[in-house]
Amino acid sequence: MILFKNSDQLGQYISHVQSNGRKTALIPTMGALHAGHLSLVDAGKKSGYLTICSIFVNPTQFNDPKDFEKYPITIEKDIYKLEKEGTDILFLPTIDQVYPQGFPRNEKYDLGQLEKVFEGQFRPGHFQGVCQVMFRLLSIIEPDHLFMGQKDYQQCMVIKWLINFMKSKTVFHGCPTVREPDGLAMSSRNVRLNEEQRKRATTIFESLSYLKNNLSKGNLSALLDKARSILTARGFKIDYLDIADADNLERVGIWDGRQKLVALAAAFLDEIRLIDNIVLN
Ligand code: AMP
Repeated sequence: MILFKNSDQLGQYISHVQSNGRKTALIPTMGALHAGHLSLVDAGKKSGYLTICSIFVNPTQFNDPKDFEKYPITIEKDIYKLEKEGTDILFLPTIDQVYPQGFPRNEKYDLGQLEKVFEGQFRPGHFQGVCQVMFRLLSIIEPDHLFMGQKDYQQCMVIKWLINFMKSKTVFHGCPTVREPDGLAMSSRNVRLNEEQRKRATTIFESLSYLKNNLSKGNLSALLDKARSILTARGFKIDYLDIADADNLERVGIWDGRQKLVALAAAFLDEIRLIDNIVLN
């Protein structure tokens, strides 16, 4: 694995690789890597692409400064895991390499409705920060392919919008959520859960599975009430637990039996915020 810390040097290396006909895949992360991240590297490798994993904890996407301060950093373990996975390149930039002009102040992406619901509603400014960092990573690397996780369903939609907005040639791939054996979606933030919280954390997946297993045509409000009560009964404070159109994230109250649906959840377990989703049909 080759380590790059400098954006220009990485950009030059990638264009050299591409001019020799090799396709490239970017896997952007914030580190504290787990099997979910590694599944994205694996997907890129299986397709025969040169894999570039970036690790950068982007300050501009944290709406809560405490969440940024407490974000787990495990760089040595991350390097070991990436090496073992056969990753070709690790991009480990400093803030200056990503934001050479300083943090963007007046940069605004017009995400429309996408930014007004779910994560956009509960984490104001979060997707602006995501677009800022992804705009730069895509501009520096210009990868042929981009692999991201459906664990962050709405983020996938935002990035597809960004690729289109940038008129970029990068092809987007949304990969399935990797889960622990008990169903908990793998997440860097899971390391912050103590033993008791870790046991309770599976309730998010249980409530989403309840929606999937009991979905039927017609009014969805009783089903949603029951799913929310599963979470609150175990001490979760819910930001949202809802069913939406899988293609545009508009909330669905009455289901016609055909529309493609996704159930999305975000809830606090004490001070730790967990998110998850499942496509229902
Ligand atoms: P993060 O480091 O949390 O910014 O995540 C980096 C990438 O890994 C994003 O595309 C995430 O959606 C993806 N990811 C995070 N957790 C999982 C998971 N459990 N399964 C699959 N992909 C994931």
